[in-house]
Amino acid sequence: MPAMKPPITEPLLSQWEWQARAACRGMDSSVFFSPPGESGADRRRRERRARSVCRVCPVRADCAAFAVHTREAFGVWGGLTESDRGVVRPR
Ligand code: SF4
Repeated sequence: MPAMKPPITEPLLSQWEWQARAACRGMDSSVFFSPPGESGADRRRRERRARSVCRVCPVRADCAAFAVHTREAFGVWGGLTESDRGVVRPR
């Protein structure tokens, strides 16, 4: 008898399960994502604030791995900024 295939929804659910325990859950996403026209000083301030939330987050490693694996182009994930992740955007 051939091995049964796992249900197709299981891997998708497990990919996102960690988000239920995120320290940023329910927070304003503007802490983690740059608004249009953000100045350099504002960006540094916002990223410091985001990193302080990530620092105590119980799923930080999962979050950072997800962002790196999916080449997330925007925002602070797992305490890593866009430049920490080596995001390169066309000018
Ligand atoms: S590591 Fe930061 S961005 Fe990721 S889930 Fe935790 S608080 Fe949110």
